[in-house]
This record gives sequence, structure tokens and C-alpha cells, in this order.
Amino acid sequence: MQILSNLIKIKYPIIFAPFMHVSGMALFPFIVLSKKKFIHNPQIIRHEIIHLKQQLELLILPFYALYLLNYLVNLLKYKNHNKAYLNIVFEQGNRF
Ligand SMILES: [Zn+2]
Repeated sequence: MQILSNLIKIKYPIIFAPFMHVSGMALFPFIVLSKKKFIHNPQIIRHEIIHLKQQLELLILPFYALYLLNYLVNLLKYKNHNKAYLNIVFEQGNRF
């Protein structure tokens, strides 16, 4: 378990993927970060921990299916990646 700024206890393993084009991603049970410095960013870490909890609540695989389906429906609706992403139900209320 790693401790982030004495504020968040991280019980999930963190791996780094410098090729990612996003700051972080939750792939149960991992928090994947694109840069090592993001481990000190409580907003990013909290955001990904919330996604890991959402994944657990939905027994993991259904989360990914619903997330992707919601994104694709939003993409058809908004015809814009950012709007489609930001309007995914799992991103609502999980803002930085
Ligand atoms: Zn997110």
C-alpha cells in the first residue's frame, strides 16, 4: 500500500504506461498512470479509485461493456470525442 501525501491510502497497484495519451486509467485492479508525477496528484488518484470501485460494484467486466456502450451512444449523439467521454455516466460526478 502506498501513501499519497498522507491523504489517500492507495491499496491498488500502480503501473506506468508512458505511451498513454491520458493521465490515468483504471484497469481493475490497477491504476495505470502515464507519468510518474501523477502519483502525487490526489485528483487523478481519487478519480481512478472511484472507477475501480465502480468496476467492483458491477463485477468488473460489465463495467467495461457499459462504459464502451455509453461512449459509443454518446459519440453518435454528440459526434465529438470529448463530449462523448465527458457524458459517460461513470464520468458524471467523478470530475477532477
Ligand atoms: Zn474517468
